[in-house]
Amino acid sequence: MAIPTSDSQDDRPIVWFDIDNTLYSASTNISQAMGVRIHGMRPTSFVNKYTGVNDIVAYFVGLGLDEQEASELHHQYYSQYGLALAGLVPKSRHPLDFDRKCDGALPLEEMIQYSPSLRKLFEDIDRSKVRVWALTNAYRPHAERVLRILGLTDLVDGLVYCDYEAKDLIAKPEYAYYDKAMKIANVYDPSKCYFIDDNKRNVNAAKELGWGHCVHFCEGGLVHVEGGKAEEIKSIVKHEDDISVSDLEQLRTVWPEIFKA
Ligand SMILES: [Mg+2]
Repeated sequence: MAIPTSDSQDDRPIVWFDIDNTLYSASTNISQAMGVRIHGMRPTSFVNKYTGVNDIVAYFVGLGLDEQEASELHHQYYSQYGLALAGLVPKSRHPLDFDRKCDGALPLEEMIQYSPSLRKLFEDIDRSKVRVWALTNAYRPHAERVLRILGLTDLVDGLVYCDYEAKDLIAKPEYAYYDKAMKIANVYDPSKCYFIDDNKRNVNAAKELGWGHCVHFCEGGLVHVEGGKAEEIKSIVKHEDDISVSDLEQLRTVWPEIFKA
């Protein structure tokens, strides 16, 4: 995976895939497990076997907050900043500490399965027509780990990740993050951007910036955790041009022009 450089002469459109809860299903319960690690959210019994919650000093609680405060803060940060970490940086001893104790501590190898059909989907994208990049709010080690487990590393041309060590942390859905992504990938025309993400706000922001082909990955009925609160995933169609899929295979129909004939 070329990280993160791009040929300035390359004018192929670019397909941006979000990673977490898009390249794997929310049914993996990874967002719940992360909630447990970030602020000690009570795990469901289904999640419990992965979290070993009794052994975990939940990250926010470890910063000296009680559980209620930790939960509220996590949700507030998530709502405000798009990810928990952005608000945490000033409180954190070190952002990499967060990465190690939250993202890095998840037993992802047990939670995510390699999917031959997902690999085939990526293989079937016509690289003479488009480039394929990942655009994530996770830090690089987590993003690369997920791509490795999914067996997609060699099929993703580049990765734009949230730099936990940067002074001014930016992430989706901040416009600046999309602009940064386009700059890194050397793409100047937003209409040439394809984008799929499970977070509707992230999709909306991309659309507002003129990204040409935006799709909401929406597994209606499943439960996911956003900002530490468990919620049922709802299909929200506000505008008639909103496009959502519940299975990545549907991209073959939604974006037929990017696949091999
Ligand atoms: Mg996601």
